[in-house]
Amino acid sequence: MNLHTLGWDATREQEFAPLQSSGLEPARVVTVDKHHFGVLPRSGDFLLARAPGRFLHRVTRPAELPKVGDWLAIRRVPGEEKALVECVLTRRTWLSRKEPGREVEEQVLVTNVDVVFVVQSLDAAFNLRLLQRQLVMAREGGAQPVVLLNKADLCTEVEQRLAEASGTAGGAPVLVVSARTRRGIPQVRDWLKPARTVVFIGASGVGKSSLINRLYGEEVQATTEVRESDSKGRHTTTWRELIVLPGGALVIDTPGMREVHMWLATEGVHEAFPDIEALATLCHFRDCSHSHEARCAVKEALATGQLTRDRYEQFVKLQREFAFLEQAQAQRNYSERKRFMRVAHRSFNKQKPAG
Ligand code: GDP
Ligand code: ZN
Repeated sequence: MNLHTLGWDATREQEFAPLQSSGLEPARVVTVDKHHFGVLPRSGDFLLARAPGRFLHRVTRPAELPKVGDWLAIRRVPGEEKALVECVLTRRTWLSRKEPGREVEEQVLVTNVDVVFVVQSLDAAFNLRLLQRQLVMAREGGAQPVVLLNKADLCTEVEQRLAEASGTAGGAPVLVVSARTRRGIPQVRDWLKPARTVVFIGASGVGKSSLINRLYGEEVQATTEVRESDSKGRHTTTWRELIVLPGGALVIDTPGMREVHMWLATEGVHEAFPDIEALATLCHFRDCSHSHEARCAVKEALATGQLTRDRYEQFVKLQREFAFLEQAQAQRNYSERKRFMRVAHRSFNKQKPAG
């Protein structure tokens, strides 16, 4: 594992040159939790970096904090497997959600992503409006979107759906695939180049994990065949939030990426209720659910009759359905992911991150 395997290139090297001379080292962020950034540095193994006060003082918005995918300049703590974050290098692309109607705050989810696979399923969940929102999100951050219409095996109107999706995709490639039958998987693999960073977005249940597992499995097979012929070993390396596929492409899959599907879907709920959305901007609590909170503008409008009870109940019902669906899916995804990781750990030669 070296920096080039992780996407480092000549332009980065140039950007980094002045920092190099002050004793800093480049590293890519592969995990983020409350207190630490898990990074892969130029030299040595995975280590945890902390953002020191002098870095935090310069940060004016949460969006500027390191995210999975970021390239950092870090300073090693002598004699320890630890480092301090000095600065974040230029972000080429990013995925973020903006909260319109509030003081516009951008939440950056992942950065330096080359390809965003926007996954829709060819079953009852197929949703062109959602596809549109997903494409906007991918394009806003500068990444290349590629639409995957999954579960082709369940659909009898593939041509029609393909035409509809292509009409919405505005020139983005649209691939018909099936994680189950492996239809279209070779075409997806054409987008997976060594050191290229990709993410999968899409509603829960459309088959993101199945596609990642499928791609992972096929590449393991392909590289095993290579290994047999040239007897070169290959390490498969996987961190919690960044998977290095055996062919060398990098898949970022963070909890934040999972939340975004929920958000995009509920955006749809909000679009259907612009009146309530407008009221909601006046609620005291930013994350008001308009059910039990004090100083809720929606409930107040309900009390004065400005908002009818019927309409309010429709809104609450739809919101609840989404929350329930997402919770059930998240639970299931979590156990499937754990199983996948266990299998991955068992089967392949692994470099284990410290800590
Ligand atoms: P995620 O929530 O987007 O990660 O979706 P999952 O990968 O967990 O898939 C959700 C469900 O759809 C699972 O039961 C999968 O087995 C199923 N599924 C995924 N891909 C396909 C496919 O191509 N065809 C069919 N028939 N089912 C699929
Ligand atoms: Zn409210």
